[in-house]
Amino acid sequence: MHQRIKCDQCGQEICNIFILKRHKASVHGITPSDAFQCEYCPAFFEHMKAKDKHLAKHHVEKLQEISALTNTSELNENKDTIVTGLQV
Ligand SMILES: [Zn+2]
Ligand SMILES: [Zn+2]
Repeated sequence: MHQRIKCDQCGQEICNIFILKRHKASVHGITPSDAFQCEYCPAFFEHMKAKDKHLAKHHVEKLQEISALTNTSELNENKDTIVTGLQV
């Protein structure tokens, strides 16, 4: 019933296409072009929503860091200008 698939990189038999994709990513560093790769770890997902869920669960701190940086970067630049202006 289950058709086995061979990895075209190393010839190892893999039991299904998703595990083959995961195998290729972890063993050979090849991410399928149709997959959504996590920016913070080697995980990848077949659907954008699955990646979003993963990000929210595993990388919520990084996401907050980034949004904090983007929100304050303009303010920080202004502050720097004011501070240097006063000091000079
Ligand atoms: Zn392989
Ligand atoms: Zn991740």
